[in-house]
Amino acid sequence: MGKQSFELLILGTTSASPGADRNLSGQLLNIAERHCLIDCGEATQIQLRRYKVKFQGIDHIFISHMHGDHIFGLPGLLSSMHLLGRKQALNIYAPAELKELTELTLKLSDTKLNFFIHWRSTDNKGSHMLFEDDKICVHSFPLKHRIACTGFIFREKPLPRKIDKFLLEKHGVSTADIQLLRQGDDVTNAEGEYIQNHMVTKDPDPARAYAYCSDTAYDPELVQWVRGVDLLYHESTFLNDMSERAKKTYHSTAQQAATIAKEANVKHLLLGHFSARYRELDNFQTEAIQIFQPCSLAHDGKKIKI
Ligand SMILES: [Zn+2]
Repeated sequence: MGKQSFELLILGTTSASPGADRNLSGQLLNIAERHCLIDCGEATQIQLRRYKVKFQGIDHIFISHMHGDHIFGLPGLLSSMHLLGRKQALNIYAPAELKELTELTLKLSDTKLNFFIHWRSTDNKGSHMLFEDDKICVHSFPLKHRIACTGFIFREKPLPRKIDKFLLEKHGVSTADIQLLRQGDDVTNAEGEYIQNHMVTKDPDPARAYAYCSDTAYDPELVQWVRGVDLLYHESTFLNDMSERAKKTYHSTAQQAATIAKEANVKHLLLGHFSARYRELDNFQTEAIQIFQPCSLAHDGKKIKI
């Protein structure tokens, strides 16, 4: 059995207003074949097209906060999903105001969707479970921004034990018992011998996690929520020489993002949400790696296996 999919596609990396080669916030996460869109800046649907993502494969949309550079792509995307014949329901996890805004936009533009939207309001006091099934779970956690804002953490459920086919045959275990073995049970073979689980299985890979920290001021409180994740995306709108501006606008610098990554002992840091004032981004990496490595910069179209 191949590894369960867990891959991030970056759709946009700039803040406030788009540039020719840097779109606004948006990411697509494939976790165990659950396709999640995270934030939806203007033109996110064009980015999805550009990187050949099927709109109808998206069943969950997570929105961090109500600033326009994170949401203005939503009505257009919903309208396209409708025009493309979507029937299956869509789940949107977002501040309560987004439901109001979207419903009004659709109403006033005479757009009637042929599919149902399950809205779930986020709450930025504490951490909350937003979604769970047999393979994954998603929680929100509070960020420190000018308006209510949440981060999201996507976790795999513990993976099944790995079956050793050779040992399975050697011990005469029926393939019908594979499901029991995967979940850690012992079994009996055709000769009535008791086969302990560890005789024919190996430990699974550790469950992986991805944390998304959208717009936020430097906030050491974040460390508790993102501790030990495999990949941490943290905004870095500014470089450290603009830390005063960062503080005033409730954003972070590369150095501050790296400090959170270090304190939380994550495995990899990904920086994004760069201010449009920066053309060259190399300095973000240079600044961050003085504090924490490995660190990479997001760019539109970048794919990262977690
Ligand atoms: Zn914002």
